[in-house]
Amino acid sequence: MHSWLFAYEGFNPDEEGLREALCTLGNGYFATRGAGAETQADDVHYPGTYLAGGYNRLKTKIAGKVIENEDLVNLPNWLPLNFRPKGGKWFSLQDVEILSYRQELNLKEGVLARKIRFRDAEGRETVLTNHRLVHMGNPHLAAQKLELTAENWSGQIEISAALDGRVINAGVERYKSLNSKHLESLETRASGDLIHLKTQTNQSELRIAVSARTKLFSDAQPLSVVPRTMEKKGYICHLFTANLEEGKPLSAEKVISLHTSRDKGISECGLETEKDVQRIGSFDEFLRTHKLAWKHLWQRFQIELDWTDASDHDNHELILNLYTFHLLQSSSYHTMDMDVGVPSRGWHGEAYRGHIFWDELFIFPLLNLRIPEITRALLMYRYRRLSEAREAARQEGFKGAMYPWQSGSNGQEESQKIHLNPKSGRWIPDNSRLQRHVNAAIAYNVWHYYQVTNDMEFLSFYGAEMFLEIARFWGSIATYNSELERYEILGVMGPDEYHDSYPDSERPGLDNNAYTNVMAVWVLKRALELLNLLAEDRRTELCETIGLLPVEIEKWKAITKKMRVVFHDDGIISQFEGYDRLNEFDWEGCRKKFHDIQRLDRVLEAEDDTPNNYKASKQADVLMLFYLFAAEELNEIFENLGYSLEEDTIPKNIGYYLERTSHGSTLSRVVHSWVLARSDRSQSWELFNEALKSDVADIQGGTTPEGIHLGAMAGTIDLIQRCYPDIRTGEDVLWFNPMLPEKLKSIRMTIRYRDHSLHIQIGQDKMTISSIKAAALPIQIGFKDKVYKLQPEESEEFEL
Ligand code: BGC
Repeated sequence: MHSWLFAYEGFNPDEEGLREALCTLGNGYFATRGAGAETQADDVHYPGTYLAGGYNRLKTKIAGKVIENEDLVNLPNWLPLNFRPKGGKWFSLQDVEILSYRQELNLKEGVLARKIRFRDAEGRETVLTNHRLVHMGNPHLAAQKLELTAENWSGQIEISAALDGRVINAGVERYKSLNSKHLESLETRASGDLIHLKTQTNQSELRIAVSARTKLFSDAQPLSVVPRTMEKKGYICHLFTANLEEGKPLSAEKVISLHTSRDKGISECGLETEKDVQRIGSFDEFLRTHKLAWKHLWQRFQIELDWTDASDHDNHELILNLYTFHLLQSSSYHTMDMDVGVPSRGWHGEAYRGHIFWDELFIFPLLNLRIPEITRALLMYRYRRLSEAREAARQEGFKGAMYPWQSGSNGQEESQKIHLNPKSGRWIPDNSRLQRHVNAAIAYNVWHYYQVTNDMEFLSFYGAEMFLEIARFWGSIATYNSELERYEILGVMGPDEYHDSYPDSERPGLDNNAYTNVMAVWVLKRALELLNLLAEDRRTELCETIGLLPVEIEKWKAITKKMRVVFHDDGIISQFEGYDRLNEFDWEGCRKKFHDIQRLDRVLEAEDDTPNNYKASKQADVLMLFYLFAAEELNEIFENLGYSLEEDTIPKNIGYYLERTSHGSTLSRVVHSWVLARSDRSQSWELFNEALKSDVADIQGGTTPEGIHLGAMAGTIDLIQRCYPDIRTGEDVLWFNPMLPEKLKSIRMTIRYRDHSLHIQIGQDKMTISSIKAAALPIQIGFKDKVYKLQPEESEEFEL
């Protein structure tokens, strides 16, 4: 089984949306779906291109209300590159007999190739190949090479190479009743062998320029063909006429540059694109620098697996590589210099409008241990939106900073107030914005970035301010219940989105969600620690700037001792207060009736029922605590609160909630696999395998074509990276305590920790850690209970 070639044989219109999403090419700056260069948006194809953070806001009148959404904008299509025999029809898969078809994504090199042999209505047989790349080294560039070989004919052909700015957002069926025209055409222009197109988004005033240059070659020799130009509003095309001789390949190389008015270090975006395409050399040279950039990324990100039994190899590594590939196309070296977050669905489609959720929590650990500078940039996206989060808290009567559940351009809350249930066709209230736990995730991410990097400057100037303001928010949302002598957090939602209020209650939200309450305690505890970590002058400066008062700090201390966590009678941690009073759900009956019940919320709503009535969860909620914290850390938090976790609390809770979860979010299996990694290796491995399929097999039945699930992708890789090796960072130590799944003989990877590059090899019985030559201070490696010092160029071996 090949670990680097992700390939499809044959054309399958039903699967095309999925293939287009999974064959997206991008570089962290922009991304283009893997649709054929001859296609246009229709029922089968959707050739979208998206800029990282390229949003626009539009209003729509719907169900008697005006709603506003900020969307990731589908940018002008740079792909169109097609041909026709003179006087014939432009090539389209629908009109020809396909003799063979193969589409292949080379993950190592970042090249998408398609090879099609076909016969047209006149009996002409032709081989068409298309190679495409979005340059990983220079984020503005992309290229395609179309090659045609006539097998049983010769004749004149026409080749068209266009830029199409007439596109709208039409990638998600259920958004189709919403206003979707984001672009206004500013200019189309041809100059010599170049064509140019400029558009602007109609609210955010983001200008986008694209220039293209197409060159023809016959048998690898340049052809000097003067193109004709065809222009329509928002569309420009170069048309070339050439002779295609039987057996003699004719190729067209199209290179493009894309800049926007937001780029740094530019004069005007149109000028930059024109300059770029004039300077690009041959396709092969272009390919060489692109491959080099990928090689460097893979050196940092590749994970190699050896199998106990070679037949188990299956395609695990291929899928893990594919998921790493998509992560790196969403957040790359280029992200470091940009103001963008990490989108839950990649820049691969329009689902969730390109918004940023708490999914960072599942993604950052992978980036932290490979290129932490990317995490830093993504955390800066949050920092720049701190004042918006402060305002959101103030408006709700809280202190500090309350980050939105869904974030886009400026950090205001982007969650919808109503959303469409495609099953019932009804627009229903959306309370998901009450997921205040996103704030805890941001604080957790700041802390863990710092743990891995020891980047005190970041912490001191940016991280601490976010952290303390988030702590302040928790300090103010927690209210004291004098009867119970406990602090409580009321009216919120936990990660499980099936529960957004009490049955028959008009009041949105739930009380004392265990995950939220414990995370709040963790944030407050760390905030107290953080205050001591900062240099005294910086601490004073910061406390003065944000006006943090000693009385608030006293309240934080009290909350870390007296936050309420609700338990059921048998010691189960209650997902929220009152969960135990809900009805048990008839999983079997419901599965029989509806087959696919991952989106139980939609299924039940369509039946005039709601999951709020049942002990049925969409995704891991309480269990998130065991995912994020080691048992010792959790014990300490609970003990401090005056609760004790028994020996069997963790396995009991896992069993209880696993039975009551539908995995309606792709994040859920990752968490369940993680929490079972020690206690039930085979079930953990089974869930890992299911999580691994999330996107390649589109297990939610139709969501991946609209955009990949980056949290699940990164989370699945992280199961191999951190979970099975049990890598943890804390107390200035990099801890290991590996226990591999039985199927795995060894894991090999290189991670970064505090300026060290560490080659790690973990087997069933032995682990070796070697630090390569670098100017870095010694680090501490923890194994079981002991701590060892490691210098650059040193190795340590451990018997497991
Ligand atoms: C999940 C959330 C997640 C979001 C974006 C939802 O379906 O319930 O936890 O953040 O998708 O991935």
